[in-house]
Amino acid sequence: MSDSTVDVAVIGGGPAGLTVAGRVAAAGFTALLFEEDDEIGSPERCSGLVSSKALQTLGLDCPRKLEVNAIKRGELVVPSSGSLEFDLESLGMTVIDRRLYDQCILFDAKNSGAIVNLSERVYGFTLKGDRWEVLSRRRAVNSRIIVDARGAPAYSRGDRRLYAVQLGCFFRRPVEKDKVTVIVDKGYSREYFFWVIPVDEYTAKIGGAGGSPRMVDVKLHSLVEEYGCTIYRSIRSSIVIGGFDGSSKDGLFKVGDSAGQTKPTTGGGAILSVQGAHILSSMLLEYLNGGLQLGAAAERYRRGWEKMYGREESIQRLLRGIYEQMDDGKVWLFAKAIDRSGMSMPADFDRLGSWFLATAGVRLVKELVRGAGHMTFDSIIRMLERERKWK
Ligand SMILES: Cc1cc2nc3c(=O)[nH]c(=O)nc-3n(C[C@H](O)[C@H](O)[C@H](O)COP(=O)(O)OP(=O)(O)OC[C@H]3O[C@@H](n4cnc5c(N)ncnc54)[C@H](O)[C@@H]3O)c2cc1C
Repeated sequence: MSDSTVDVAVIGGGPAGLTVAGRVAAAGFTALLFEEDDEIGSPERCSGLVSSKALQTLGLDCPRKLEVNAIKRGELVVPSSGSLEFDLESLGMTVIDRRLYDQCILFDAKNSGAIVNLSERVYGFTLKGDRWEVLSRRRAVNSRIIVDARGAPAYSRGDRRLYAVQLGCFFRRPVEKDKVTVIVDKGYSREYFFWVIPVDEYTAKIGGAGGSPRMVDVKLHSLVEEYGCTIYRSIRSSIVIGGFDGSSKDGLFKVGDSAGQTKPTTGGGAILSVQGAHILSSMLLEYLNGGLQLGAAAERYRRGWEKMYGREESIQRLLRGIYEQMDDGKVWLFAKAIDRSGMSMPADFDRLGSWFLATAGVRLVKELVRGAGHMTFDSIIRMLERERKWK
């Protein structure tokens, strides 16, 4: 076992951890990252559905094409009621090659001088004086800063983390590759839904989350049977639908899924985790350059995230709360209400909450609340006003 001292030790080589390590190293500090898997980007715990616009803002310099399939339509299926199709072209949704995405971020990180150790699980970290000791089977590393980027399993709010399964499936006949399908079946999952996300004409990712592991499995396999496709991959993981947990102590910071930097509506955090990592690394660099105390860096990180995504996150949490209370019939009524309203679709897939409140208008919100049954319109308005997030 070898010992070393670094400025920043990062646990987890997903997009969040890799981004922090790369940005710290690019500024001339030492960053060492541990990844327990044998390959960056694999296993692929993601459907790869992201906002194309948000992806462009990350400025990734990727040698190959990350966006593999543009999504233009969405179908909502509520088995007890029927199905509805929506035109989603304005959302700018795209399916990325998620493995390549992670590997591009790795490429940048290594070019910047970050040290990335694969197949190396961190099994403990303890504070000794003012330094952290990080332990893997191969080494003990000392660092002033430790970044927990271990992903969803490290997210502390267990009730806001859903069990998820995703199958890769081959189809014999071409699928409608520009259409995502969302299947709501509250008997299986009160909190979540099932999805079919095409990757190309003959391949799709079929997944589901929430409920019990067994129920998700049973439903997914019945979908596979219905579609007549062949499973070539099965991934089990969890999806964070919580909210930001920016608690940091003594130089230990969380980022990405482990900090709850995802969308409460869908759990998607492939891009948000990188945006969170940008905010965190800027604060860490200010600290390392002597411009900030640790406590102030933690507070600035919290405020930076809040400024970038806090409002959207709280609206999405609210919408999720309402969704969780709906039964299938109410989801159907609500979807029909949106369909009838002729609302134009938003231009940002990552900010559906703000769009919803800005464009739905009081009539639709009332309809939504009536559909949910339990919450009153007034209580929702009060919640929003309390947070002073809704103008
Ligand atoms: C089934 C499924 C589908 C999804 N679909 C989408 C989607 O369509 N769009 C979207 O935006 N998001 C999606 N997500 C969410 C998205 O994948 C995550 O939000 C994103 O990967 C978070 O990045 P991260 O870097 O925080 O964590 P991760 O990508 O999970 O990376 C964490 C890394 O830490 C490593 N690690 C953990 N513990 C240790 C340890 N002790 N020592 C060393 N290494 C460790 C893990 O091996 C892993 O590589 C999906 C998630 C799931 C589960």
